[in-house]
Amino acid sequence: MSKRELGPYPGLRYAHMVSKDVHSSHVVRRFALYPIDIERPEKGRRVEALECGSCQKPLKFKVLSVAATRSRRRAWLVLGVAGVAVALGFGVAIFEVGGRVVEEGASNPVGPLALGFLAGFLSGIVGLSYWLYEDGVRGPGSPLISIGAHALRWPPS
Ligand SMILES: [Zn+2]
Repeated sequence: MSKRELGPYPGLRYAHMVSKDVHSSHVVRRFALYPIDIERPEKGRRVEALECGSCQKPLKFKVLSVAATRSRRRAWLVLGVAGVAVALGFGVAIFEVGGRVVEEGASNPVGPLALGFLAGFLSGIVGLSYWLYEDGVRGPGSPLISIGAHALRWPPS
């Protein structure tokens, strides 16, 4: 995936929401995409403001160095894989416990196991999606959730 390669400038774009059409079953948002013209620092992070190309509002961005971005990606991957492993472990346990007969009055052991499964499952999803989207850029919104007029977006490939 070429868009995940780390160049001197972020591959992620910032987006200004141009329009929002609310349909009965879904919402269509249109964005104008602009490059984030902030060079990655040698190391650490660089904080700079850019003027939005659509509304001229100052937008603050934090851009991480290549090394820092790589280690973020690794951390997300570790979280994602660990989450999936935890979910699988709890899944197997639920399957085993679920087949057993629980004595009357005893608490159902599946409840806490289901919580563990859910926690692992969610960290797996969050970790793996951020692993895919991480570009070492923090700004208005995130590439995963966009609320408000500005967001971070990958350009369509
Ligand atoms: Zn704007």
